[in-house]
Amino acid sequence: MTQTTTASPYRADEHGFFGEFGGAPLPPFLVEPIAEVAREYAKASADPAFQEEYQALLSKYVGRPSLLYFAENLTAKLGGAKVYLKREDLNHTGAHKINHCLGEALLAKRMGKTKVIAETGAGQHGVALATAAALVGLECEIHMGAIDVAKQHPNVVRMELLGAKVVSVEEGGKTLKEAVDSAFGVYAANPEEYFFAIGSVVGPHPYPSMVRDFQSVVGREARAQVLEAEGRLPDYLIAAVGGGSNAMGLFDAFLEDEGVGIIGVEPAGEGLEGTRHAATMTLGTPGMLHGMHTKVLQDANGEPSAVHSIASGIDYPGVGPQHARLEQLGRAEYVTATDAETLDAFQLLTRTEGIIPALESSHAVAHAVKLAPTLPADAVIIVNLSGRGDKDVDFVAERLAQQA
Ligand SMILES: *Cc1c(COP(=O)(O)O)cnc(C)c1O
Repeated sequence: MTQTTTASPYRADEHGFFGEFGGAPLPPFLVEPIAEVAREYAKASADPAFQEEYQALLSKYVGRPSLLYFAENLTAKLGGAKVYLKREDLNHTGAHKINHCLGEALLAKRMGKTKVIAETGAGQHGVALATAAALVGLECEIHMGAIDVAKQHPNVVRMELLGAKVVSVEEGGKTLKEAVDSAFGVYAANPEEYFFAIGSVVGPHPYPSMVRDFQSVVGREARAQVLEAEGRLPDYLIAAVGGGSNAMGLFDAFLEDEGVGIIGVEPAGEGLEGTRHAATMTLGTPGMLHGMHTKVLQDANGEPSAVHSIASGIDYPGVGPQHARLEQLGRAEYVTATDAETLDAFQLLTRTEGIIPALESSHAVAHAVKLAPTLPADAVIIVNLSGRGDKDVDFVAERLAQQA
């Protein structure tokens, strides 16, 4: 694992700035609690005992390393570049999120906190955090908008079975935005007991760098695995981008390999013309959101826009500041996939490989479907399959029935 401050142009400075992006613009009552997290994370990341404990959980509990799978059938079907899938869907709990939730839980424990707290939208982050808290031996409190509580009932049940307290937030629009405010309110009132566990490479410093570090195992493994399988580095990496954690996890180990193309895929939803999308990198403008300066989909008053995606894990009006920086430096490019393209990719991977991908990950697959046929047969693409699609099968079946 790497330090958060190095000379790399792609990394943050000691204050968490990726160029103009990042930082920690916070209300005064949150400045000291978050500064404490930054100090303690810096110590933990330099402590071999902490790293060993974390690595041991990744191998003995998560089941790492995850496979780098050559999708031979898909490759044959697309005609062109070889497509490899980094199988984060095979992790315990079925997605990449467990990687950073375990890291955050371990840090919370090291800091002497007794509770981890977070907001969740669709419930995926809440379930991963409740899992990590159960394992590490911490209480867990998850704030969730009342509308999401009703919509995502199975995840609420999972969190409660795992021992978490789920707080239904009744204010305002009763969704993610209110859940964030509610959870931060509780945290700010009692930072001695609570550790705030952010669910992606977003929020104030140190979270964008810290969550990336915890996810960077994905790219380190993939780099070694592709060298073993192909004897060379890939031509492209492709990952879905919501907040951007699975993407940064894959990208991080390849940033200095300038010959490796890096592509993030955002949800174009029902199209980029209207407001039914969540294409923050493509259509967002610089602004403030959730304690960071980054690209934001926002209205004229700087209020975050209502966003949409078929995949509830990536319908976020902001993006991790490192992504904004990588684009600015020309190191990564950001493209989009629509809901319809994503549904097609979901079905294609399921039928050709017998792998049901999460709808979030299906955005990355959708871009591979476009890119692979344009490349020669000796080209290599790695797609981050960030999670499994079991959670999405009822929804997909309904959508396909409507279309029939
Ligand atoms: C939450 C989630 C995402 C989106 O989060 P990022 O921080 O953008 O990676 C992507 N894929 C799956 C399977 C998820 O659960």
